[in-house]
Formats: sequence, C-alpha cells, structure tokens
Amino acid sequence: MASSSFSTLSSTSSAITASSSSLSEEELTLTVKWSGKEYTVRVCGDDSVAELKRRICELTNVLPKRQKLLYPKIGNKLSDDSILLSQLPLKSSLKMTMMGTVEDEIIVDQVESPEVVDDFELGQEEAVDIKDKEVNKQKLRRRVSQYKIKLRNPCREGKKLLVLDIDYTLFDHRSTAENPLELMRPYLHEFLTAAYAEYDIMIWSATSMKWVELKMEELGVLTNPNYKIMALLDHLAMITVQTDSRGIFDCKPLGLIWAQFPEFYSPKNTIMFDDLRRNFVLNPQNGLTIKPFRRAHANRDSDQELVKLTQYLLAIADLDDLSNLDHNKWEFYIEDNTKRRRHA
Ligand SMILES: [Mg+2]
Repeated sequence: MASSSFSTLSSTSSAITASSSSLSEEELTLTVKWSGKEYTVRVCGDDSVAELKRRICELTNVLPKRQKLLYPKIGNKLSDDSILLSQLPLKSSLKMTMMGTVEDEIIVDQVESPEVVDDFELGQEEAVDIKDKEVNKQKLRRRVSQYKIKLRNPCREGKKLLVLDIDYTLFDHRSTAENPLELMRPYLHEFLTAAYAEYDIMIWSATSMKWVELKMEELGVLTNPNYKIMALLDHLAMITVQTDSRGIFDCKPLGLIWAQFPEFYSPKNTIMFDDLRRNFVLNPQNGLTIKPFRRAHANRDSDQELVKLTQYLLAIADLDDLSNLDHNKWEFYIEDNTKRRRHA
C-alpha cells in the first residue's frame, strides 16, 4: 500500500514537471475578440502578460496600457503584466476579450507616464546571467523573427551604429510648450550631423511608432538635409526579461538589430544612448547612460551633454572594438584624449 501510493505520487509530480516545462516553450494560439472582430495571437508560455498585450497592440493599435483583458475563470490575473502565460490556464478553444480604445491623443498618453522612472544597475554576475539565460535568448530569437526593422535609408559600409532613445535623451517629453522645439535637447541637429559622418543612426523609443514618428517629424529629425536616420524602432521591438533581484522589466536588445543586419552591425561597432540603464541589460557593454534632459525651460541654456558626447563619439570612432570601452567613464575618456592631443 505504502509503495503504491509512493509510486502514484512520484508519477504525478513528474507529470507536472514535464507539462510545465513543455508549457513554457509551447506556442499558444489565442483568439482575441475586440470591437466586433476576432484576432489570432501567437505567444509562448514563457511570455508575460505584458508581451501578450504588445502582440495584441500590433494587431489592433490599442496601446498595452489601454487594454483590459477578460478571460473565463482566471479572475483579474491578466491585469498583472508580470505574470507568465504558462502560469495561467489558457486554452486555444476559449476566446479572450479585449476592451480598450485606440489612442488618438497620444500626447496625453505620454504625459501620464511617471516623471522619474525607477532605474537600477544589476550586479555584474546577475547581468551576465540574464544575458546568457536560454529563455531570454529564445525570446530574442522570437522577436527577431516577429519584428522586422524597416530601413528608411540604406546602411552604409564601414560605418558604426549609434542607437538613440528619445524621451529624456533627445527630448523632454514631460514639460509642456507651445512649440515642441522648445523641449528639444540643445544641439540635437549639430550632434546628429557630426555623428552621421561616422555612424549610421537609429532611434529606438519605448513608446508607439506613431509617437516616435510624430516626435521626430516635429523636431525636424527626419527631414534634416545634413544627416539621415536609418530606422525607427518602437516598444514592440523590446523584450521582457525576468531577473531575481528586480523582477520583470522591459529592455532594448541590440541583438535584434545585429541579427537583421549582420553584415553591417555587431557588438563591436554599436553604441546606444539611453537615460535608463536597465534598457541595456542584454548588452551592457554597448550602452551609455546619458544624463536625462528634464525641465527643458530651466535647463535649455545650460545643457551641454550632446556637445560633449559628440566629442566622445568622434574620439572613439576609429577604434576597432567599442565593446572594450567602459562607457560609464566616457567623460574621463574625452578629458584624457584632449590632454594627449595637447601633449603630442
Ligand atoms: Mg528615455
């Protein structure tokens, strides 16, 4: 009797293990009803609710934060973005309902975001761990196959790649002004013009493509005759990673660009500017944390970051491998460089 109940127990527990591991990799095909139509969404068990919402956004244009998802018998679990889909009893046979409206007033949407986002730096060991985790590599592979970067201008042979965030990096999206040019970071066009001599330039924002295009058009970045932008990327190109110390958050994996343009760009010739360090978590050696440009009206006359960073970009442009650099120390690099030149 004792031995038979033991064997039942052990077979049950191995069945659970087997089903949960296959669930996490398994593709789920879900039907989402919205506004009288049905949409088919393909996700995986190790995707989070946040990622499901991004896939739905691709199909419906309803921003993730505007979506309310309803599904039989799981209560309000779909309102927690960090829950993994493998933790929910989703079945292909049942339909999900989404409630939400397409954003017309995208500017209002921006203003609702918190002024200071909690940023953090992960310990080196954990950062390496996250980068090497098979589940994150898999997510990246999936994103590479799902998100096609549209080139506005061709990549140029022999150029390095500069990837730029928008909010607080190039533009103060929290302040208000009659003319958006008042909120543009000083020297933006001069910076882009100088960088373009050595770098192809892509813009990557954690907002929607509509907002990215609108913002870049308003600032005259897409029509400036002195430089060209290779591509615009939005929140749909991001992936969610799970960490032990910081839970689940979104990041901008440069691997998505490297996989789509391997003949042009690699970890050796790419640098990304962002005011949020956590966006670099999958490629920490390629990220430079820029001082956020906030309170534009007060800081417009004194902010020199883009002038100094132009110097840095040009100073490192001749190096064969940018990933050897410690971009945290970029200011010392240009100081030393200036000294070296003075002594030479
Ligand atoms: Mg930003």
